[in-house]
Amino acid sequence: MSKVSISFRLTAWFTAVFLCGFVILGIAMWVGWSYTLSSGRDRTLTRRAARALEVLTNFSGQSAAVLNARYDELVDANPEGNLIQIFDSGGRVLYPKNPKAPKDFPWPRHVGAPFDTYRNFMYRGREYRELQHPASLGPEHLLIVVSGQLEDNRQMLARFTTGLIGTIPLLLAGTALAGYFMSRRALEPVGKLTAAVRSLSIGNLAERLPIGQTGDELQRLAETCNDMLARLETAVTQIKRFTADASHELRSPLSYIFMVSECALRQPDLPEQCREWFQDILAESQDATHLLEDMLLLARADAGHVDIPFERTDLLPLVEDALERARLPAEAKRHRLVLQCAHGPFEVRGDRTSLRRLIWTLVDNAIKYTPEGGRVEILLEGNETQVHLSVRDTGIGIPVHLLPRVFERFFRADPARSQTGTGLGLAIAKWIADVHQAELTVESEPGAGSVFTVAFPAQSSGFLKVGMV
Ligand code: ADP
Repeated sequence: MSKVSISFRLTAWFTAVFLCGFVILGIAMWVGWSYTLSSGRDRTLTRRAARALEVLTNFSGQSAAVLNARYDELVDANPEGNLIQIFDSGGRVLYPKNPKAPKDFPWPRHVGAPFDTYRNFMYRGREYRELQHPASLGPEHLLIVVSGQLEDNRQMLARFTTGLIGTIPLLLAGTALAGYFMSRRALEPVGKLTAAVRSLSIGNLAERLPIGQTGDELQRLAETCNDMLARLETAVTQIKRFTADASHELRSPLSYIFMVSECALRQPDLPEQCREWFQDILAESQDATHLLEDMLLLARADAGHVDIPFERTDLLPLVEDALERARLPAEAKRHRLVLQCAHGPFEVRGDRTSLRRLIWTLVDNAIKYTPEGGRVEILLEGNETQVHLSVRDTGIGIPVHLLPRVFERFFRADPARSQTGTGLGLAIAKWIADVHQAELTVESEPGAGSVFTVAFPAQSSGFLKVGMV
């Protein structure tokens, strides 16, 4: 799966497409500009050659002095005038009579092709362009040669190139930013849908996703999700109702089995073998009754049919009760039971019976899943805002990858080691914590032990007390 977000990928594509566009446009502009400059240069050379021929034609009947003077005027009229020379058919310089161009300037030596030709050449480290324009003056064949520097053109082209190279990254950065904001904006509803879907759980399947009336794919997606939620809600409700009904219906036959076993065990003449069988039946029906009661409680909780009377409740006496109850099983396994309290009082708003059950589940598990000679410690700690109850043991621990599942119904990390358990204890504990707006969390290390912590919203805070049982 790609770890890069859609908006990032869209921006990258958008920017790449624009980069290609900018590069193609830049090259086209460069080629166009370069062509415009060189054709402009050629037109200037042609104009100068025509002007020189015009002077010769207009004043050919005049004396050589007049012609020379006119020619000098022409030369002086343009900045590169000294780069015009007129040769006769033998390659001798006709005009100007006193050439002002440097002696080593590379003029052509003879009349070449009978049409205009251009060439580029280097002279003293600079590039020049030259036009050879064959012409006739009466019977005489002439070659008008006009040269001009290309330096200006080169500089203009270089400035244009620099400007282009500097502008493209700026345009690209602007495009990337615009692309990023556009894609973020377009995907904003997806983010809202994701958050809404993420907040859904089995407990709030009745909620529906917000549907924007945009008429687009996102509206259809939200509507499809809502249809699916409606179907899920119906299915889950049916399953919950079935569990509640089945648990309820099974209670009577189980009580009947329990009652019959008790009556049978009261018979004095019951054979020993039958007594053992009835004792097993009694124990099993007792376990099954507990399981059914737990299932019924959870089914009622799911349906919201459990009334919990909330009152100001001190957790300390409930913890002391649990420790008292744990004393015998702990002694049987030679466990050390420790109670530590700090910064009480430990008052919370809650239901005494449910809280007693929550505490007992954690303490009972700690004893059950701690081998002989271990230590089980209960910590109570209060502050301004919270009361923390932790049950820490030095037991078998829970593998890290199973930790997120310990509060699931019927989950047992190691079924072989929890044959006595039903896998509902922690699910009920979690539900009790939830209805008290408390957070139940677990940390564990296999082989080293586990800590279950419940963080309740506090009612008050106060003194320090440390005790041991
Ligand atoms: P069970 O009735 O099986 O104890 P719970 O819901 O109370 O069911 O616990 C679920 C599972 O979590 C247990 O089967 C056990 O694997 C694991 N577990 C709970 N508490 C502890 C603990 N203190 N140490 C190790 N494993 C534990």
